[in-house]
Amino acid sequence: PRHDLSNELTALEGTSYGRYKSLRGKWWAGPAILDISKIQSDPYAPPSRVALEFDAEAADLLEDWYATPERRRALAVLLAKRFRKACPTRDLRIDAGGQEILRRASCTVGEDGSVVFRLGAQLPGHGRRIAGRQAARLLCEILPDAADETLAVPEEDVLVWTRHADDLKALREAVAAAGLVGFVADGAMLARRSGVDQRPLENGVPFATPESMAVEFDLPHAGTVRGMGIGPGVTLIVGGGFHGKSTLLRALESGVWDHIPGDGRDLVVADSSAVKIRAEDGRAVTGVDVHAFVDHLPSGDDTRHFTTENASGSTSQAAAVVEALEAGAKALLIDEDTAATNLMIRDARMQELVAKDREPLTPLVDLVRSMADDHGVATILVMGGSGDYMDVADRVVLMDAYRPEDVTERAKALAAKPTGRTVEAGGFRMPRARVIDPRSVSSESRGKQKIKAGGTDGLRFGESDVDVRSVEQITDPAMTTGIGLAIEAAVRHGWIDGEATVAEVLDRLDEVLDAGGEAELLRIREVDLAVPRRYEVAATLNRMRELVVHQE
Ligand code: ADP
Ligand code: MG
Repeated sequence: PRHDLSNELTALEGTSYGRYKSLRGKWWAGPAILDISKIQSDPYAPPSRVALEFDAEAADLLEDWYATPERRRALAVLLAKRFRKACPTRDLRIDAGGQEILRRASCTVGEDGSVVFRLGAQLPGHGRRIAGRQAARLLCEILPDAADETLAVPEEDVLVWTRHADDLKALREAVAAAGLVGFVADGAMLARRSGVDQRPLENGVPFATPESMAVEFDLPHAGTVRGMGIGPGVTLIVGGGFHGKSTLLRALESGVWDHIPGDGRDLVVADSSAVKIRAEDGRAVTGVDVHAFVDHLPSGDDTRHFTTENASGSTSQAAAVVEALEAGAKALLIDEDTAATNLMIRDARMQELVAKDREPLTPLVDLVRSMADDHGVATILVMGGSGDYMDVADRVVLMDAYRPEDVTERAKALAAKPTGRTVEAGGFRMPRARVIDPRSVSSESRGKQKIKAGGTDGLRFGESDVDVRSVEQITDPAMTTGIGLAIEAAVRHGWIDGEATVAEVLDRLDEVLDAGGEAELLRIREVDLAVPRRYEVAATLNRMRELVVHQE
């Protein structure tokens, strides 16, 4: 590393803005090293990228705090949030994230206790000339001061996060070992303040488990926790409008991630492979075997290899189910609010009016049982408007003024009375594996792609714009970027090679990411990103309009 960044900057005062580029590289910065990795071309361009690297000695954390991957991940999020608070200026921008605890580029804690902060720095200018003294103050005073303040974290604060991380690891393991797909602790606050404010609702009704569904787990720090265990098979959430059904489902959707302490969903977890499914008319579908749901289209199209530029509500939802299963999902989450009714149900009267051979769709109600029994795929669905699912549900939860009640017995008694409905499907068969043509994902087979997230709604990947608005489990703009970079890496490493199946490509990705390899795989020095799950990577790939696949 070079010395005296402050002097260099002061010397550049008043010179042309482009000369900032001469500062690229590593500098000594007190006990840390400042790595200036990318420099903006003008004062109005997106901020430059800098990293402040502390080795274990300089970071001076207690060994206990970084002893496990889960603690390191939680501690990194805590530090990123502290850094943002410690920063007195908007010219330094750290991505501190929201309510989920994700692995992010903005702060990483190494196995050896080293810490790196990666952030954007808006390098100051007087018009097109360098404001060197101001820059020196920003990079050589404000930045290290903020980092010092961040690292001077009180032990009791850290312990809240690291103990939480330990408890969640134990809880996830216990929930899985008990064969459950979800767990919601007593006292949890599931409701959020608003659609645009994901903090917990104040003065909401805390979650209270119905006795018959109660399970208890012993956690290393929190002790015994009691809550509602959601078993495998088909779970139906019913209840009147506005009684909290969707809120419960959304908490489970988000339960694939840990949440920050005090989130309200602290002890809410879902199977890590749970995928939210919804209708999304207008999306592209490429070579998906939706034949279990859609057959005999009036157009005569082959639904074993279904491709469209403009899916209907029902076909888009059918495709989403099949794509999720292809990616490895073992639990599907569906809300009537965002589902295509004609793919969910068809009642006795409609069956009588419209003959089966005039109706291409087989409703999910006739397939979920086989998905569960033959393939081990659980479904949790919100359905307040039709009783037909009572026939196939393993359990029925009634939400009544935000309080769950187990009404399985009553529902079973009702289901014993015939509705006159005919079951429309024999069994569900897993779709055939697909293989992606690498040229369809990227024209540059080995190089970098232009990757730009439009919040959580869209991803610019190379030449293509991918609409991911309806991939509801993408909850963070940095995750959108992470997905783009994961796809880029899969192309660059030749994993998408025209032979590997989609699932195999995702396996390769997981192998590296699960081993903590995001620094090698993704461009963590250059952009703010969060490490995505395979399911959101797959969902994004599947929404690329240029995609070309063949089935094995
Ligand atoms: P449903 O899907 O049954 O129609 P929602 O889950 O959309 O109902 O909830 C309706 C409203 O009630 C939402 O504004 C939600 O934030 C609020 N809400 C949900 N759960 C609670 C709770 N436990 N306490 C207070 N308000 C809640
Ligand atoms: Mg709802």
